[in-house]
Amino acid sequence: MAVLLACLLGLFGTIANATVITAIRTGENAATTRVVLDLDREVEWNVFVLEDPYRVVVDLQNADWALNGRPDPPRGVIRDLRFGQFRDATGRLVMDADQPVVAHRVFMLPPQAGQQWRLVIDLKAADSAVFAAARRDAAETRPARAEAVAAFWPTGVPPLPPQRPGSAKVVVIDPGHGGVDPGAIGGGGTREKDIVLHVGLALREALRGMGNYRVVMTRDSDRFVRLGDRVRIARRANADLFVSLHADAAAGRAARGAGVYTLSEKSSDREAEALARRENRSDIIAGVDLSDEADDVTSILIDLAQRETMNQSARLAQTVVVQLGERVTMRSNPHRFAGFRVLKAPDVPSVLVEIGFLTNRQEEAQLKSSRTRERIASGLAAAIDAYFRR
Ligand SMILES: [Zn+2]
Repeated sequence: MAVLLACLLGLFGTIANATVITAIRTGENAATTRVVLDLDREVEWNVFVLEDPYRVVVDLQNADWALNGRPDPPRGVIRDLRFGQFRDATGRLVMDADQPVVAHRVFMLPPQAGQQWRLVIDLKAADSAVFAAARRDAAETRPARAEAVAAFWPTGVPPLPPQRPGSAKVVVIDPGHGGVDPGAIGGGGTREKDIVLHVGLALREALRGMGNYRVVMTRDSDRFVRLGDRVRIARRANADLFVSLHADAAAGRAARGAGVYTLSEKSSDREAEALARRENRSDIIAGVDLSDEADDVTSILIDLAQRETMNQSARLAQTVVVQLGERVTMRSNPHRFAGFRVLKAPDVPSVLVEIGFLTNRQEEAQLKSSRTRERIASGLAAAIDAYFRR
């Protein structure tokens, strides 16, 4: 552990100038209160709890406060929050609570999609035993009283490696469905999972041909991948973009055209809402136990980091509408939004592209042709490239 700590400190070094904390953001869902601190660089942190009154203390080493605006109001389990310098080099945030509260998750997010470094602290109410354990942990890991923390900085979750500036952009391509979940099926028996895999592989080739993209596929063969795992693959890859590929089915055979969807808690229209409901059933179709999936795709993620990526996702959707529209028929209102589970990575701009309707006889025939699929792939590649070049 000492070696690891030394390595980490060696890697990230002692910061000569103070880290600047530029924002305090808060959000909540039923169980979790999330606090996000925006930082201009990575920082060593220490989070611990105290009682009488109950509070959570966040110390940032060699950091100073220069908020861009007012901090978000306290919410969830937080009754009040205060911040300022604690000793010369320590920026301290104190959150008061009316009940025992613990920080059950603390992690650092590297800069991504135009955002700064972020320290994320997830809080939840605890019973007295859990709180006592957290209190004891803090006491054991720190050599002296809470106020003496400046001398000792447990690393907590090890920081993620910083992104190399100027390195290739990471694009995650997500062909929908697969394995036991065929997705939509056309009148001629064409399966969505096959068509979107072909388009995904063609898109990978097109992006590789451009030279400055690293492509990660959520699947590159006919296998099932959970919706939550697709999101996790994107986050683990430090994705700059996430593009999910689907082909639609409609009750009427006349429906046709491609469309682009971005995440929103409120659907733009009933069609988009029904589509999201269909696409979100993938895990259920595959018989996945959803009980352990609920937490990381809850609305708190939309409330916070997600809010920031909405604009980028919309911008990508627009370049897709333009580039794809030059190559294939688009549906009316080609950019719509709804609550697609697969678009819920909090900090990765994400779009879901419906490349056409398998229930439309003409489009089914077109999508079976590799020429059409390559045209779609080249349109998507051009859209992605336009997005990054702006
Ligand atoms: Zn689908």
